[in-house]
Amino acid sequence: MQDFKFKRNKLFCEQVSLQAIADKLGTPLFVYSYNGLISSFNALKQAFSRVSPLICYSVKVNSNLSVCRVLAQQGAGMDIVSGGELFRAKKIKVPGKKIVYSSVGKTEAEIEAGIKAGILFFNAESVPELELINKTAFKLGKIQKVAVRINPDVEAYTHRYITTAKKQNKFGIDLMTSRYIFLTLSSKFKNLDLCGIHMHIGSQILKNIPFAQAMEKAVKLITELSEKGVKITHLNIGGGIGIVYNQEKALDLCAYASSVIKAVENIDLKLILEPGRFIAGNAGVLLAKILYIKQTPVKHFIIVDTAMNDLIRPAFYQAYHQVIPVCMRKKTELYKTDIVGPVCESSDFLAKDRFLPDWLKQNDLLAVMSAGAYGFVMSSNYNSRPRAAEVLVKADKYYLIRKRDSFGDLVGNEIVCNV
Ligand code: PLP
Repeated sequence: MQDFKFKRNKLFCEQVSLQAIADKLGTPLFVYSYNGLISSFNALKQAFSRVSPLICYSVKVNSNLSVCRVLAQQGAGMDIVSGGELFRAKKIKVPGKKIVYSSVGKTEAEIEAGIKAGILFFNAESVPELELINKTAFKLGKIQKVAVRINPDVEAYTHRYITTAKKQNKFGIDLMTSRYIFLTLSSKFKNLDLCGIHMHIGSQILKNIPFAQAMEKAVKLITELSEKGVKITHLNIGGGIGIVYNQEKALDLCAYASSVIKAVENIDLKLILEPGRFIAGNAGVLLAKILYIKQTPVKHFIIVDTAMNDLIRPAFYQAYHQVIPVCMRKKTELYKTDIVGPVCESSDFLAKDRFLPDWLKQNDLLAVMSAGAYGFVMSSNYNSRPRAAEVLVKADKYYLIRKRDSFGDLVGNEIVCNV
């Protein structure tokens, strides 16, 4: 996280002190670094520069309009999974021809909106979905480009909840059915241009092997189809590149890119990438304020004002996030503690069994690191807790990019009925 560094014992995002932002805007607070976002995007662009792929930022990981806009300004397209994400992409004027749309459950209204927006590809995940896209395109008098999302049945060696390309997962279409779609069914889809293959094998992947195995299967399919007269013009290799949360060994980005490029070097096609976590994950932190410090007969707890409703990854995936004091003081003893929130669940923790300095006290700030991806977007109002505010830092300035929910927002859509 090169954009979050200590200067004179205070943690900074770029050139702004996190304590100063929290003093002004309160906590819980997500803070993102502009430079963090664009440097990871550009690292990926650079690694794949020989083939100039279309890099579609995966909106689901951090869908704040300002974050998406920063990436769109760098040339990113958008990978979307819902009508809501399409609405966001349109709101910041991402051209339809840079939008790709995956999801196992696209509704007719969402398909219609996508076609009307002129999106580049639907990544179709079942035969009935292909039928519905075809029918909708016919109704609108359009020919729609579609990629078949294949399920290559590979082990991604990541958390089981974010493994997406084993045959027992709900995602994609098995290779045999995919072949049948291109070679036989396609003739009945008069309003589809079935010219793409898509895959996304999982998230937080730190080894090249699963990517390489999936690539091999995709290339084999593309070659077979080409021999039978079906030309695939686009290969979308999805996202999945892992980041360092703790002490993991990072994926070698250049080796990953080289193996992808090598696999397709003799095939005339355009590559599409859908990175999410890799771009935003280490570009953000979540700030929490200490409410109480509590020692029970068997455990030590630091209770903060930030909870599982703000960052669900520890509770949901047993995910590890580093937690560090925002202002460092003298070196002293460390104690082993759990950092927990106020929500009424024992799964409400941000970190367990961590060693933190014994000088921490009420009102001190902690930074939960690597919270830029799958953070705010997965937050909720559980326990009627207002969702956090979000801030974007660029150099020595910071910008509020989402206001904290008010209590009014909590009940804004509710109707007290007179029963
Ligand atoms: N593409 C698709 C279809 C996805 O489902 C996801 C994540 O679930 C992504 C891309 C982004 O994945 P990651 O954040 O691991 O890059």
